[in-house]
Amino acid sequence: MILKSIKTLIFCSFIICVSCKDNTPENTKKTMSDNVLIQEWTGPYDGVPAFDKMSVAAVKPAMEEAMALNLAEIDSIANNEEPPTFENTIVAMERAGKPLGRVFAYYGIMSSNVSTPEFRTVQAELAPKLSDFRSKISQNEKLFKRIKTVYEDALEHPLEDQAQRVVELTYKQFEMNGANLDAEKKKRYAEINKELSSLYTDFGNNILHDEENYITYLTEDQLGGLADGFIKSAAKIATDKGEDGKYAITNTRSSIDPFLTYSTHRELRKQVWENYYSRGDNGDEFDNNEIIVQILKLRKERVGLMGYDNYAAWRLQDRMAKTPENAMDLMMAVWPASIARVQEEVQDMQTVANELGDNITIAPWDYRYYAEKVRKKKYDLDSDEVKQYLQLDKLTEAMFFVAGELFNYNFTPVPDGSVPVFQEDVKVWEVTDKDSGKHIGLWYLDPYARQGKRSGAWATTYRSSSSFDGDTNVLASNNSNFVKPAPGEAVLVSWDDAITFFHEFGHALHFFSADVKYPTLNGGVRDYTEFQSQLLERWLSTDKVINTYLVHYKTGEPIPASLVEKIKKASTFNEGFNTTEYLASALIDMKIHLADPEHMDVDTFERETLDALGMPKELPMRHRTPQFSHVFSGEGYATAYYGYMWADVLTSDAAEAFKESEGGFYDKEVAKKLVKYLFAPRNAMDPAEAYKKFRGRDAKIEALMKDRGFPIK
Ligand SMILES: [Zn+2]
Repeated sequence: MILKSIKTLIFCSFIICVSCKDNTPENTKKTMSDNVLIQEWTGPYDGVPAFDKMSVAAVKPAMEEAMALNLAEIDSIANNEEPPTFENTIVAMERAGKPLGRVFAYYGIMSSNVSTPEFRTVQAELAPKLSDFRSKISQNEKLFKRIKTVYEDALEHPLEDQAQRVVELTYKQFEMNGANLDAEKKKRYAEINKELSSLYTDFGNNILHDEENYITYLTEDQLGGLADGFIKSAAKIATDKGEDGKYAITNTRSSIDPFLTYSTHRELRKQVWENYYSRGDNGDEFDNNEIIVQILKLRKERVGLMGYDNYAAWRLQDRMAKTPENAMDLMMAVWPASIARVQEEVQDMQTVANELGDNITIAPWDYRYYAEKVRKKKYDLDSDEVKQYLQLDKLTEAMFFVAGELFNYNFTPVPDGSVPVFQEDVKVWEVTDKDSGKHIGLWYLDPYARQGKRSGAWATTYRSSSSFDGDTNVLASNNSNFVKPAPGEAVLVSWDDAITFFHEFGHALHFFSADVKYPTLNGGVRDYTEFQSQLLERWLSTDKVINTYLVHYKTGEPIPASLVEKIKKASTFNEGFNTTEYLASALIDMKIHLADPEHMDVDTFERETLDALGMPKELPMRHRTPQFSHVFSGEGYATAYYGYMWADVLTSDAAEAFKESEGGFYDKEVAKKLVKYLFAPRNAMDPAEAYKKFRGRDAKIEALMKDRGFPIK
């Protein structure tokens, strides 16, 4: 039984810290200071971070010292008089940087879990130093020359699989960042990057400006349809902005979404909608259109220096999709069904509007409003009722059960006080193999929201798997923002939050089950690493979990089948809207990087491209081009926004493998293959190859179409 999240895209982020290992080489030991953040980890479980001893004051000196130590290691590798070999170059690099890895474990906690204004000052001071540090390594010519020699040797005389892969990945990373260029081109390359980084900042700041300056203030008689909680917070925001007695609708998604869903004032919906979708596109000094053209030109020029036709071809070469064509093919295979579904949704909404005697034709600012009316009419799902069956403790037990069934893991709480934590609410479990009792690692859970903790949910590691210098155990964590209950009270969470909880645990299991020799092979491939975690979400709605763990917090009764049925039916609701607004953005992201930026007018390009695609006029792109921060306020998701759907295809297709098997989601044989091919190798195996080994074929999109409620041809 599969229920898909109502929210189709979970914007989860997870952080992998650089290789953290404990056995510091002799030469760095001698020169290391007594700064607590840089020290080797001591205590039980092969040493654990001293979270009880960390301080903000220690961060800057520790980071500077660790960077210096790492650069000294890199220099000694680069200046080695011996001819370059896999051992003295690649393995030496894999071994380097351990003190820095330890400092980063603390740094990550201080920036994400227990941040303070003092820490943010230190962070700002360190940012340019860290960037210089990375450049010093990536631009070290002697180092690259040695890497290149090892790489070319390995092409002729291949090494064992994991060694070969780490050589290829290391070489590729340097090469993709311009290490192969001659001096003149390198200079231009660096200039372009500098120009780009300030354009990225400008792009982001312009959006911020338009978010802060296009606020819609409502008066008392303009609150029709809005919920009490929303009205209260709108009043407070208005007061904070010096407009006491009014109600502020800010120009951000979290504010416009509920407003457009519930406000009965159509003219105001139109105004709020237009403000939001015009961010960065107002023809003033904060307009992003010219910046986008400059960014596109510079990106094209930069990859041109390395001989690539376009940015997308450069970017996708080490992704699972490999080429822009593959990514486009997937998107275009889903697109027709998606826009066809929009037409059905629009018809349903028009019917409701007519029944209400509203005398309108559905416009973009009507979509959320009438969709909500259709949802009520068709599904009548009470989210408060669902919550009563979703207790945090029970969900945690459910995840342990699933990990036991699929991965053969056992989770046992560590003795009180045996492992230092950075906050009293953080709990730690030891992970062992159910049969052999072998120690695998520690799982840290930081469940509750608090001041200084970033929002959302994420997973991270303090120590990752590797075996080239002896097996390491894994220290992994999950972090969420549940509201802390009064003592003795159950934490009740929403269905979406329960899914996210499972999702992040999927990342943790991906860390624990890693079986890789070299730390680099733990790295993630952007269109692939969300797949494992998305897949784990599916076990929340399996019968075994439902019957044992989704029980009422007072009566202990399992969640009624009729309620589960309702959740299931509601899961594909509004999928036309969700998929189409997402895909329109992903398609423009790809197409704009494949186009010639020379005489481009971005507004015209966007309009003509969407027209050619047959974009329904009743809804906009999820992120219109002048406000597409994923793509233009940095490079993280440039020509990569498709990746969410790519990972989702794998998710649906892999879930299908379980559904088709004899034991369903708990089939032992499929579970074994899941761990062996999809989890344990991480990036030690080409993802496409790994998937094929799991499934016996490439992923197909049929299962995704089915999960989204789209017809299959
Ligand atoms: Zn994730």
